[in-house]
Amino acid sequence: MKNIKNNPTLGYILIVDDQPVNLNLLSGMLKKEGYNVRKVTDGQSALNLAKTELPEMILLDILMPEMDGYEVCKKLKSNEQTATIPVIFLSALSETEDKVKAFEVGGVDYISKPFIFPEVIARIKTQLNQKKLTRIIQEQNQQLQQYNQGLEAQVVARMAELEQKNEDLLKLRDELHQALAKEQEISELKSRIITTISHEYRTPLTAISLSTYLLQNYRHKWSEEKQLTHFNRIQVSVKHLTSLVSDSLFVNQTENDPYKLTLTTVDLVIFCQEIVEDIQAIAKAEQIINFVYQENDFSGEWDERLLRQILINLLSNAVKYSPDRTVVDFEMLRENNQIKFRIKDRGIGIPRENQMKLFESFYRADNVGTIQGTGLGLSIVKKCVDLLGGEITFTSELGEGTEFIVILTLRF
Ligand code: ADP
Repeated sequence: MKNIKNNPTLGYILIVDDQPVNLNLLSGMLKKEGYNVRKVTDGQSALNLAKTELPEMILLDILMPEMDGYEVCKKLKSNEQTATIPVIFLSALSETEDKVKAFEVGGVDYISKPFIFPEVIARIKTQLNQKKLTRIIQEQNQQLQQYNQGLEAQVVARMAELEQKNEDLLKLRDELHQALAKEQEISELKSRIITTISHEYRTPLTAISLSTYLLQNYRHKWSEEKQLTHFNRIQVSVKHLTSLVSDSLFVNQTENDPYKLTLTTVDLVIFCQEIVEDIQAIAKAEQIINFVYQENDFSGEWDERLLRQILINLLSNAVKYSPDRTVVDFEMLRENNQIKFRIKDRGIGIPRENQMKLFESFYRADNVGTIQGTGLGLSIVKKCVDLLGGEITFTSELGEGTEFIVILTLRF
């Protein structure tokens, strides 16, 4: 009868011996101790049973007909399924060589006949405990490995998460910087527009308002000539305001509404001479515009409107930002297919810290003082040069003067 309650192991112990006396003796001993026991009398039966139902341990007789214990053990160890079953050899032989061979073929212990009951039990217990311990260690190792793998995976995942978060944060910071820079730019532009409006729009608006008020209330008392003066003033102011509006519309022209070039044949020398005359008319006392040009063929196709905007703005700035009795050099050169305009004044110059933003609309340098302006002229010039596929550069020294150079390609 199986004593399940006292069974120190859940599996069974297989005893292999060709002598039934020994078999019965051992199995009786073990059963009393509460072990499950199965018995076979030959090696082949032992191998078959071990494969179909794995025993906890095998007590294996060495001397058996047909297949001896060593052979059985070798076969057990060479099969992956049965290799881990501990095998304790049983033998009446007591020579050292046999014991050595028993260990060589994979046995874990050796019990000599005749059996001494407490010794047999002690050896079996030791081996079973050993097996149990090995299993526990293996399980713990496995758990530890799984835990480590899990931990590793967690660390990797967390690292990736942190890296992603870090990247997101850096991106966010850049976006924030960009947004702040943009906002600052917009707020600067806004304040520049407000300054321009308050300076440049107020004067003509006040003139219009005053003249219309006077005309409304006093025109019946006034001569026709005086009335005309006020009408003219209104007209000039309206013209000024209109040009301010069209200038800002021109510089803010979008890509959706591109400017189309209108090309006509232009004699550049005559064209420039006329512009110089116009500017000379608004120049200050004894200011001279010294127009020089190379003897060369300057004929080509130009968009007159763009070219006029460039030269008028640069030349009028040159006289506007220069004192009385100074000379403005205006030079025109041809180098291969390129025309180079150079406009040099001896005026107030442009502070270094203002030079970077000079081509932005509504931007004015800090040293303009009471000199009137909108900060639109140079952005118009830049836009025109770009539309013509040219280049504009300048150098300036505070209190010494400024030189602008525009290079445009001749079209035939
Ligand atoms: P503005 O209507 O103010 O003259 P511009 O766009 O033509 O506007 O020029 C922008 C700014 O560049 C001017 O306000 C002025 O500070 C500076 N500037 C332009 N040309 C000259 C120059 N020849 N000498 C000194 N400062 C200049």
